[in-house]
This record gives sequence, structure tokens and C-alpha cells, in this order.
Amino acid sequence: MTNNVASIPTEAPPVLDCEGYRKLLAAVESDEAKSPRGNEYRAKFAWAIARAKHYAEKTGLTPEAILDSWEKRRDYWFLNFYQEANQPEIKADKVRIFETVEDLLKSIGSAGFRCPSCCGVSKSPYECNSGKKAYGKICDWKVYGLFGHMGKGIAVFVKEKFALENLFMPIAWEIEAPEPAPEEVPQRPAPKKKKSSSERSKARYREFQSSDTSETFFEWLKRSEENRRRGFKY
Ligand SMILES: [Zn+2]
Repeated sequence: MTNNVASIPTEAPPVLDCEGYRKLLAAVESDEAKSPRGNEYRAKFAWAIARAKHYAEKTGLTPEAILDSWEKRRDYWFLNFYQEANQPEIKADKVRIFETVEDLLKSIGSAGFRCPSCCGVSKSPYECNSGKKAYGKICDWKVYGLFGHMGKGIAVFVKEKFALENLFMPIAWEIEAPEPAPEEVPQRPAPKKKKSSSERSKARYREFQSSDTSETFFEWLKRSEENRRRGFKY
């Protein structure tokens, strides 16, 4: 399945008996009444239902539970919320599924995460703090930025939280040797030091420590979702 909503059959999707379905349908109908946009709303609706079913098949959860969890979390327009970037297709090599946060943390261990930009080891799964230089500055690559993890990271789905999140690749999961670091640009005299975005976000982000409790991990998840809503303004 692709993200091309135009390719979605236009027949009505199956009815799910859950709150999430009713909330989403109400939003679709309300928008249709206000500003008709052809089939776009219905196509997105069908996409969301189909994607909930896909998640159910892959995780063993029910489509109702999946859609409920999405709709509970959705606090912006469904047309933007439902998209490949937010509910990616679950492919074996792109998404790993865990029952609990604890299982996830156990699997990740304490070796840290591979930054897709500088190839250094970051303690944070979201924001590089390797301390390595890349392209002439200390790397602060962010997985929730415009270029994400550039295909070098991974998504995890935690069933007990119904949450899917993109991460830098945990070192513990690396099966191939990491790609060589990009050639370091010779250091020019440091430009006038503005407050870096990593400093700015320090207040908003705590370092992810694998020894921390699962709550910490999901605080990160929550903040990451907030960042997405803010539209990557970093
Ligand atoms: Zn980095």
C-alpha cells in the first residue's frame, strides 16, 4: 500500500464498532459539510481504516483498539494526522514490535544509538549527542527533523502503549558494520556562537538513559509527538 490516497478504492470502508471510528467519521462528515473537497476526506478515512486493519494484522491487536488509540492521540486535522509518516506500513525490516516498554528497553540495552548523520553513538534515540563533529559542527541531528533518520534508523511499535516511534538505530540491533563517517570538513574558526538548537531544546529534552524507567521513554515519545505537531520548527 502506498500513501497515494487516490489509489484507494472509493467504496466505503468496513464499519468498526468503536469510539475512534465514530469520532473520525464525525470529523469527516463535518468537514464535508463545511468545505467539499471531492473525495479527499473519504479517501483519507478509508486509508485510516485500512491502516488500522493492517496494524491489527501485524500486531495481533484489534483494528478498533488501534483506531481508538490514534483518535485519542489525534488533536489536529485528520487529513494531516493520517499519513505514511505517522502511521507507516509495518514492514519486518522497518518496524520492530514489542509487547511492553520494558521489553523494548531490555532489547536496546545500554549501548546507545547510531546517529545517521555523524555515525557516532548517541545516548538519545532522537537527538544526536555523540559529541562528534559532522560538517564542521558538533552534530545535533534530530530524528524528528525534516530528513528523519534518512532510512538508517528504525521504528518501534509498543503494544501496551499503542505507540509507534522512529528512533536512531540502537547499537544493539546493528547487524552490519556502520557506514563510514562522512568526511569531516576541516574546522574553520568557530562562527560566532549562537545558541544552538540543541541547547535550545535541552530544556525540552532530557537525555534518554536506558537505565531510566519506562516512563522516561514515553515522556520522550510524547514530546516527540508534540514536535511533530509543531511542524519541526527547530
Ligand atoms: Zn550525530
